[in-house]
Amino acid sequence: MIDVDLIVEAGQLITINENNEILENYALIIKQNKIIDILPYENYQSKYHSENIIDASNQIVMPGFINTHSHIAMAYFKGLADDLPLDIWLNQYIWPAEAKCLNPEFVFEASLNGIAELIRSGVTCFNDMYFYPDETIKACNQANMRALIGDITLDFPMGDFHHPQNNLKNFHKYKNLIKNNDLIDISIAPHSIYVCSKQTWLNCIAVAKQENCIIHTHLSETEQENIDCKKQNDGLSPIQYLESLGALDTKTILAHGVHLDSEDISIIKNKDCSIALNIHSNLKLASGFPPIPEYLQNNINLSIGTDSVASNNKLSCVDEISTIAKLYKALYKNPTAISAKSLVRMATIDSAKALGKQDVLGSLEIGKLADLITIDCDNFLSNPIYDPYSYIVYSMDRLNINDTIINGKVVLRNKKLQTIDEMLLLKNSLKNKNNIISRIKK
Ligand SMILES: [Zn+2]
Repeated sequence: MIDVDLIVEAGQLITINENNEILENYALIIKQNKIIDILPYENYQSKYHSENIIDASNQIVMPGFINTHSHIAMAYFKGLADDLPLDIWLNQYIWPAEAKCLNPEFVFEASLNGIAELIRSGVTCFNDMYFYPDETIKACNQANMRALIGDITLDFPMGDFHHPQNNLKNFHKYKNLIKNNDLIDISIAPHSIYVCSKQTWLNCIAVAKQENCIIHTHLSETEQENIDCKKQNDGLSPIQYLESLGALDTKTILAHGVHLDSEDISIIKNKDCSIALNIHSNLKLASGFPPIPEYLQNNINLSIGTDSVASNNKLSCVDEISTIAKLYKALYKNPTAISAKSLVRMATIDSAKALGKQDVLGSLEIGKLADLITIDCDNFLSNPIYDPYSYIVYSMDRLNINDTIINGKVVLRNKKLQTIDEMLLLKNSLKNKNNIISRIKK
């Protein structure tokens, strides 16, 4: 008998492997942080032993979702300012509120709140950019959450905590902080082309190339951004501008990518570049509709982000893919525009690819890291289920996520957080709401 750390008995195991295999009545064998075997129930009992067995024999088991664009420490700005255009929302509400409210304690508590929501929504890895990234890293460590974290780079001061002259200055401090941390990586995160100068971009690109880091930025989110970019840069579109700077010669994640034309698509087609779709944020801020079918036809890697809860107002990849599936059928007057299966792949393996982690994350296969979720579907609302992809995209609620496992550790068990105190989250949320109200009045 081989002793292992965790065994998950899966009624239906959605592997997201190359052949999209769905295995029935199989066990996932986990030792330390890896999947070491996948085999039928009847074969595992004579081979493996564990004190820790999750009976998901009436459930669906699949890889955890990967959220490729977020600002999780904005948790307490949820619902603060809704129903506004992006420039007014950012300039008159969000940035002033951040300037008045952010401090290390705020970012830590808000990060923990955001991470709790991610775990509860079946997300096992996220790609974030924000201020005080060391506090978000601290929250990830406490929660056992996997992330790619970027220190937001922008060319105007913010409160007393961000000065443009300090852009990139703390990169090595954060890099050092995660030296022996197998859950966290660091990205380079210039906010966008409209708040970072050409020189700031060149500095970011140089560090990204030197340190072999992913560049994570917002790009072509609104039509106005394209108009302004062309005006200021000899007719270059945002994509053409980034290409001219050399930003696309390194691995990049472009958040939003709403207003790319066929010429832009042909540029990124041959680059190591992924788009992070943020459909609810785009809908809510009326930013437009990214040309998803054109991206797919051109083999552009698409991944799923949520943006922050200030513009969404959820951190749920399940809700994102459900909306994309229905919206694009209507927009393109074609019910076959995007399939449920391709959207589940987009939120798992394709999102892993965006992070350069497709060899270790995004599917349930022997040798990969044990990041997975179980879905409680043993109830009348979920049934009947003829096709699990269809169930996940069109019918499942994120609250059906039963267990979330990250790096082999169970962080949600029977819908209860294991690494974060839920009562404390609520207490901190109410405390910070009151603080925000009193500070923005000043
Ligand atoms: Zn964003």
